[in-house]
Amino acid sequence: MRATVNLDVLLDFNNVLLESFLFDKTTKNNLAYFYIMKWFFIIFLLAYGSSTQIALAGNGQVVLVLDAGHGGNDPGHESTFRGHLDEKALNLKITTLLGGYINKYLQNVKVVYTRTGDQNVSLNQRVDKANSINANYFISIHCNGNDRSSIRGTESHVHSMKATKAVSFARLIERQFAKRAGRHSRGVKDKNDLKHSLQVLKYTKMTSVLVECGFLTNKREASYLNSTYGQEIIASAIFRAFRSFIQKEHPSINFIKPKSGSSTASSGNYAIQIMSSKTPVDTKDSSFKKLKMDVTRKKLNTKSAYKYIYTVGTYASKSEAKKSLSSVQSRGFKDAIIIKK
Ligand SMILES: [Zn+2]
Repeated sequence: MRATVNLDVLLDFNNVLLESFLFDKTTKNNLAYFYIMKWFFIIFLLAYGSSTQIALAGNGQVVLVLDAGHGGNDPGHESTFRGHLDEKALNLKITTLLGGYINKYLQNVKVVYTRTGDQNVSLNQRVDKANSINANYFISIHCNGNDRSSIRGTESHVHSMKATKAVSFARLIERQFAKRAGRHSRGVKDKNDLKHSLQVLKYTKMTSVLVECGFLTNKREASYLNSTYGQEIIASAIFRAFRSFIQKEHPSINFIKPKSGSSTASSGNYAIQIMSSKTPVDTKDSSFKKLKMDVTRKKLNTKSAYKYIYTVGTYASKSEAKKSLSSVQSRGFKDAIIIKK
């Protein structure tokens, strides 16, 4: 990781020198200057590399480990209600969404997962992975359970209330859950509240928070966590908390990805409307599968009973949209039309 940062800096430096060399009059002096400066720079990096590593990493990017709790033989809290997923599967869904949001909307954040599928990963392996890559942040995603089905709400755990950074990050997450996601927040807790330590929080060396997204033993909360909608809301709440936390912690790094103007896909004004409905239909509904496209649902401010419309694609022009229309129609949505967004 760090070697890469150094190498990148070195390559940039080489390019700058090489450019000035190429565009200046090609004299032997320039060539000599180029090589001398290059070696000065290499010596500088070797001499100061170890002490400036953190500064270099800090200037460049932050490394975040996303840890989907349990997996493989360990289901975590097993589903309580028929048709619901076990904790390990929900943890992975929320974790994957969260990582996706970060990669889509933020820059200078390197996301590393402890697992991306349903595999066994020991607590030691999770801790070792985060420590070995010198991650800056660690978020472990879990769902809760309780013998009493009335218990519900979110919790964010830190190892100790003395870990002030972790505490303020955890508070941001709980605030997002309560204020923006409309969840019942049970607050920030530490080992004293739990009466025991959580291994991934105790042994990771970076700012670490373990998020309990809700109780699978409470029917309403379990249904929420099992819905794509609920998973998206939970993941986006953690995303917003993470975004504001790192912005405050690293004011010199620009984390917000500039909106790309070059991609017509993201800046277009046209879309293909495939259907409308009176009540909201999950955009991951199986009837949309054959489209193999992301479906977007929009609630219209209309007196019509059909308040919800569903669209696919984003196109810069009507003619661009037309190219996709027939394939959308042939996939079972023969009434699909082009609309202006
Ligand atoms: Zn768990």
